[in-house]
Amino acid sequence: MNEQAIMQIVDDVIAELLPKKQAALRHNEIPIGISARHIHLKQEHVEHLFGKGATLTVQKWLTQPGQFAANETLQMVGPKGSVTNVRVLGPARMLTQVEISHTDAVALGIQPPLRESGEIQGSASCTLVGPKGSLVLQEGVIIAQAHIHMSPTDAQHFGIQNGQYVSVRVRSPRPITFEQVKIRVADHYQLEMHIDTDEANAGLIQQGVTGTLITDKIEEKSLDKRPSTAIEINKKIITENDLSLYQGRTVVIPKNARLTALATETVTKLGIELQFHEKG
Ligand SMILES: [Zn+2]
Repeated sequence: MNEQAIMQIVDDVIAELLPKKQAALRHNEIPIGISARHIHLKQEHVEHLFGKGATLTVQKWLTQPGQFAANETLQMVGPKGSVTNVRVLGPARMLTQVEISHTDAVALGIQPPLRESGEIQGSASCTLVGPKGSLVLQEGVIIAQAHIHMSPTDAQHFGIQNGQYVSVRVRSPRPITFEQVKIRVADHYQLEMHIDTDEANAGLIQQGVTGTLITDKIEEKSLDKRPSTAIEINKKIITENDLSLYQGRTVVIPKNARLTALATETVTKLGIELQFHEKG
């Protein structure tokens, strides 16, 4: 085996060993987890719905340490309809809480508020039906607000604090930026952003995609830069793609360059100032 081949293998092994998370952190990248509708139950309700002495059993461990998707599922019933096979997450909690999407809420005929997990006071009602019983949940149904779990080390890296709001930009086939995403810091948290299925569908986002964290500070800085930044594009044909990032900025192109029809539209739509230079 020649030296170059050996070096390549060594590089590959090092790349393999480099923690994925570390690589992600370097680029302000946040892994995104899509939360399907789910139910957290207090132990009293576990037994009421699944039988005396019943406990939740592990089907699959989740990213956040100790959290699991249980084998147990329930039916949710509202005034307009029902949803079957709603997954229960374990372990049992202090409060029973149901997290659904707006689409689910419409199907059920209820109006849950957009809330942070745990804040269920005055939230929506539904009926839960299990194999051994059913119960009317007076409150506890919410639409979960998008949030990011992270450790204190991650928070330090990003220069942000628990409770702060940030934006997250996702470059999916249908690009989308989430605003008012709440930062939740705890020692045991794994870095992960949680959105619901409606939010994922809006951006055609699939499990395993990452987003870019934008703090207000970074956002302000890039805004300040806009007027003074002239971008030069040295191409004979300028397309929409060449221009789509440069909202409100000055773009310098060769004097003999041609713009496609879509590029011309983009110039108007994004308020781009075009300047021509002589060469090219
Ligand atoms: Zn979460």
